[in-house]
Amino acid sequence: MEKQMKITKNADGTLNVPDFPVIPFIEGDGTGPDIWRAAKIVMDSAADAAYNGKRKVSWLAIDAGEKSYEKTGEWLPEKTLDAIKEYVVAIKGPLTTPVGKGIRSLNVTIRQRLDLYACVRPVKYIEAVPSPMKQPEKIDMVVFRENTEDLYAGIEWAAGTDEANRVISFLKLEMGADIVAGSGIGVKPMSAQNSKRLVARAIAYAIAQGYPSVTLMHKGNIMKFTEGAFSKWGYEVAKEKFGDRVITEDELFAKYNGVQPQGKIVLKDRIADMLFQQVLLRPDEYHVIATPNLNGDYISDALAAQVGGLGMAPGANIGDDCAVFEATHGTAPKYANLDKVNPGSLMLSGAMMFDYMGWHPAAELIRSALAATIKAGIVTYDLARQIQGAREVKCSEFARAVAERMRK
Ligand code: NAP
Repeated sequence: MEKQMKITKNADGTLNVPDFPVIPFIEGDGTGPDIWRAAKIVMDSAADAAYNGKRKVSWLAIDAGEKSYEKTGEWLPEKTLDAIKEYVVAIKGPLTTPVGKGIRSLNVTIRQRLDLYACVRPVKYIEAVPSPMKQPEKIDMVVFRENTEDLYAGIEWAAGTDEANRVISFLKLEMGADIVAGSGIGVKPMSAQNSKRLVARAIAYAIAQGYPSVTLMHKGNIMKFTEGAFSKWGYEVAKEKFGDRVITEDELFAKYNGVQPQGKIVLKDRIADMLFQQVLLRPDEYHVIATPNLNGDYISDALAAQVGGLGMAPGANIGDDCAVFEATHGTAPKYANLDKVNPGSLMLSGAMMFDYMGWHPAAELIRSALAATIKAGIVTYDLARQIQGAREVKCSEFARAVAERMRK
């Protein structure tokens, strides 16, 4: 009888992963249960095929979202957050954002409460997925989006409220700012500490995965003391923590004649709007992108579209204490319980989770079997409507087809 155990974290941030780890999951709302069931089949089959029963996840259901609200009156019970902290690694389906219930978004709340400061979104083309790009195979990027501050911190006041008017009056009278009376106000806090830990994580990832560059994406030409500071702090932390592994683009040309030396990563910085052009025109020049919250929101969806859309984009929210892997799309409620939507995003998030746990063979099996299934023309409705001659299958049938390919 296998012994189920918790994943634990060492002081240096590395994980101790037992062979039979307990991993909490939130199946999610709307189409969440459909894609969760499908992703579970694929994750279990991958672990089984890779380790022949010697390693296996023991899944622990935890509550959040609509079902939790109906059961307990709470959208996000404290117990759920405690379980994620306790078990270190968790995975979730999409959650409905409660409208007018005093909660901005359950996802933002989970990220902020657990200090999951890095939203990590890999974007890589899978052969045969329809893409608007001419050469989508040139895209292999990983976005590290800061998750805890910037305009997403939720510090804002509605136009005409006493709070907004008081801030306007302070800014006018004490700081000399010119603001139209009755404006709504949002605050954009960005700190050295939080920017640096995000950029450090992005650089460490690039080194570990062998990516040749990290790009700081910012709008520092206009917002000098927030976005501009993000870029400055990024260069600082690169020097402080990775001085022997990172060179700047200036150094690349001044010291190395434009030829990247072996073992060194180039740190670039790009103004946000320009980077949107560059990832379309010269995508192979960009690899890991580190960026503040709002830019990261935009660029990760835009990049996902370049490789075929959100239905296939995986993601994770990672902090120093724990990590939550998730489908990046929403609950698509009109398709709930129809066994119809594409479970690819959650499956690929499961692969990311296995990589994070050091279960690389299982992760690779998920990616290769999923790619082989799509290449064979077996796809859910969203891809079937774009691929001529494809065989449309249900969400669960797609999962079985992927699992089947692992056993071959
Ligand atoms: P959505 O649920 O992502 O759905 C929008 C459209 O995207 C769907 O109608 C469908 O397009 C397509 N789509 C989404 N997931 C798909 C999948 N797995 N396979 C194939 N197609 C898929 O966005 P929404 O309608 O704006 O949001 C619904 C709810 O989800 C809201 O409550 C929102 O707050 C929440 N949400 C949660 C998360 C999260 O938990 N991470 C993220 C975003 C939104 P077609 O109709 O064209 O087929």
